[in-house]
Amino acid sequence: MSEVYLYKPTPFSKDNLNVWMSYPGIYNFGMSALGFLTVFKGYDTDENINAERIFTDTKTTTIDVRNLDLFAFSFSFELDFLSIFKILDKFNIPLKAKDRDDSYPLICAGGPVVTANPEPFAEMFDFVDLGDAENKSKKITDTIRLNRGKSKAEILKELSKIDGIYVPSLTKYNEEGILTDLNGNPYSVTKSTDRLEHCCVTTPILTEDSFFKNTFIIEIARGCPQRCAFCNTAHINSPYRTCDADIIKEKIDEAFQYTHKIAFLGAAICAHPQIEELCEYVSQKADIYDDVELSVSSLRADSISEKVAKALVKCGQKHATIALEAGTDELRKVINKNLTNETFKQTVKKLRECGFKGVKIYAMIGLPTETQADIQGFVDFIKEIKAENKGFSISVGFSTFVPKSHTPFQFAEKEGTKSLDKKFEFLQKEMHKIGVKINVSGTKWDYIQALFSRGGRELFDYAVDVYKQGGNAAAFKSVMKDYVKSGKVTDFDKIALSARPYDARNPWDFIQLSIPNEYNVKKCKALITTRDGKNENNC
Ligand code: SF4
Repeated sequence: MSEVYLYKPTPFSKDNLNVWMSYPGIYNFGMSALGFLTVFKGYDTDENINAERIFTDTKTTTIDVRNLDLFAFSFSFELDFLSIFKILDKFNIPLKAKDRDDSYPLICAGGPVVTANPEPFAEMFDFVDLGDAENKSKKITDTIRLNRGKSKAEILKELSKIDGIYVPSLTKYNEEGILTDLNGNPYSVTKSTDRLEHCCVTTPILTEDSFFKNTFIIEIARGCPQRCAFCNTAHINSPYRTCDADIIKEKIDEAFQYTHKIAFLGAAICAHPQIEELCEYVSQKADIYDDVELSVSSLRADSISEKVAKALVKCGQKHATIALEAGTDELRKVINKNLTNETFKQTVKKLRECGFKGVKIYAMIGLPTETQADIQGFVDFIKEIKAENKGFSISVGFSTFVPKSHTPFQFAEKEGTKSLDKKFEFLQKEMHKIGVKINVSGTKWDYIQALFSRGGRELFDYAVDVYKQGGNAAAFKSVMKDYVKSGKVTDFDKIALSARPYDARNPWDFIQLSIPNEYNVKKCKALITTRDGKNENNC
């Protein structure tokens, strides 16, 4: 594998702390995961650390597992737990923290899944890093290094003093189901939030073998000011933060010594106050070099300017990706997405006139209060866009609504798989008639996602048994049946599908974010009743 390091790694030394940073997927994907690479770079530039990357397809390692101090996992998708189990198994490391004595390394995780709700996986990790990791990683490794030789329990006690660090073994649930410390006092952890204005997270290692080949990715913004009611990216990463354009430009100049492929990353890049300036800066380089490419993660239909669109086209973008989410203006109001069909139409027209060849639209079904009229609304609206933009390629990717922790819709009901499948069948048929290609998510996998998004510690044994039975769809189903039969977990649907009362106790309640739960309750009540004044949420 050929790699270009854009920083100077620290040479290995036998007295250093030995750290593995793992991405629960293959090398190709891991090398395009900016968060994972950024934390790794932090370890790799620390003169007191020997750091190594581990992927599911890693064959050999430089650091022997027996000499490892810390094994850190990036956890970005609910189903990553299967790959994490696989990696732990490969190195003969027990999956449960309580089965690992002091001869095993400390095992930890960070990333959006565990920041949103670590409880289904809490028994696996010695500690969990909640929130932004950039400024915290060094505190963690310094604490481990300075306490080397002490027992794991003593080190964990020290680690628990760092803001944003959750140590499950120092907690328990009381009779009322409230998480407490070992003395019975209510337990809470505040998610850590880094400032981004003066730093800029960028690709530290370039390779042709990455999913985004040789691409220099720059995270220009974190969070999203829009706060759609289903979106936990916006809520767990609040407040919305941007990096300063001058710093980003410096990084672009540095990157141009190695590659002419640039990607701007962020949930809401068009909300960056200097986005036009930044896109034009890269596009000016296309006047000098003929292989300049600029790509963006996705665009918000209400904020794409002509300057941004033209710069992207000049830098090789042919297709734009924009989220429509719901089929009607009415339903978009319910989900707090301030976007109308009219604005969306204007945006598609603008993209076409600026030289784009097509658009990939993202949408969601099964949203709270959705009716068949909203589903029909998709078909009618896409038909309209298609008629107005002849020759312009249009495709739609549909997923289903999953209630996520820390969002206003964490309380909402999730529609069952059978009725979602029927809606997908209808959409497949109707969209085929108008000649629009659609992709749909797997409703059964979305159910599993919902289960782990809203479940608690009762799910960990289930996860382990699913893994042991092969980790496929059949295993999820058969282990579920066994658990219901034996009474280990009595009602999976209640966790994944049911609406929750606003005063329900949730497994993630102990995590304090900048958006308090009261906001989510108030917002959910207001949004759910937007349409007809009815609140179907049992509250
Ligand atoms: S616009 Fe996108 S990133 Fe922002 S809150 Fe809505 S879904 Fe989330």
